[in-house]
Amino acid sequence: MATRLDGRALASRIEERLSSWIREHVSRAGRPPGLAVLRVGDDPASGVYVANKERACTRVGMRSLGAHLPAHSSSADVLAAIERLNRDDAVDGLLLQLPLPAGLDERPLLAAIEPAKDADGLHALNLGHLLRGEPGPRSCTPAGVMALLAEQRVPLEGARAVVVGRSILVGRPMALMLEAADATVTVAHSRSRDLAAITREADVLVVAAGRPGLIGAEHVRPGAVVVDVGIHRRAPDPDAGPEARPRLCGDVRFEEVEPLASAITPVPGGVGPMTVTLLLVNALASWSRRCGCPDPLPVVLP
Ligand code: NAP
Repeated sequence: MATRLDGRALASRIEERLSSWIREHVSRAGRPPGLAVLRVGDDPASGVYVANKERACTRVGMRSLGAHLPAHSSSADVLAAIERLNRDDAVDGLLLQLPLPAGLDERPLLAAIEPAKDADGLHALNLGHLLRGEPGPRSCTPAGVMALLAEQRVPLEGARAVVVGRSILVGRPMALMLEAADATVTVAHSRSRDLAAITREADVLVVAAGRPGLIGAEHVRPGAVVVDVGIHRRAPDPDAGPEARPRLCGDVRFEEVEPLASAITPVPGGVGPMTVTLLLVNALASWSRRCGCPDPLPVVLP
């Protein structure tokens, strides 16, 4: 039976380290770190995600400095809010919660975020730093996957890694991070022929296709490490009564793959909790740099 890569437990251990780091350095810095989440409109799922991020800030001793603009805000309004947060010295990390209300183009707005404060690590300049192997904020979800693999001491040097998905959010930065760790990386996508033949080559298989249950036993080599980034809401179990909550599932058919894999992330409780934690890590690294404190990454990440 596979080892479960428990993202909830690792996220909580990293949060403890973030908390201690902040306590140790706050007097030298003269202020606590600040993370600003800019929300536009009233998308209910975004409301839940923003509240999660605010709670995470409070847990580790960061200030949550977000702003909430009405759904009818113009692009100029959002830009003005981003520029205000860019200039605000109390803000070390800044992110624009997506999706934006219809009619707002996210690209120029994301590009307006000060790269040094880019908590999501998705600014073109920071993706460029990743490509060049230079320091800078890293994309949170793939960085969370790397932390899970490091914690489990999954050997990556010389390993065959396959990433299913090539989005800017997950697949592409994931492939770059695995390659930077000296894995030999293949990226598969919706046009790849014979997906199962590609994924069966993998010692480490990371699936970020956004297709529920895409990956089954036929896609996995026995002994592989399988990381499921996908997250989907399914209707509640009909036998569970009217109070039942929606169930979550991933891109991997967990019951089929778990007996084959050497290690696997569950959904929920695998990659998801790590994403929020890595957001805090990016904000902490920015705070430490801006306040003349040492680099926290070697201490807080596995
Ligand atoms: P996305 O932008 O829709 O990209 C999906 C990628 O998967 C695309 O590159 C697509 O190929 C590829 N793909 C789709 N169907 C495929 C198939 N049948 N075979 C092979 N490749 C296929 O999605 P995303 O933003 O990367 O997110 C992926 C999943 O991760 C979603 O379920 C999302 O909710 C989840 N997610 C979770 C977290 C977390 O914190 N746990 C964070 C971010 C995302 P093409 O490029 O050819 O279209």
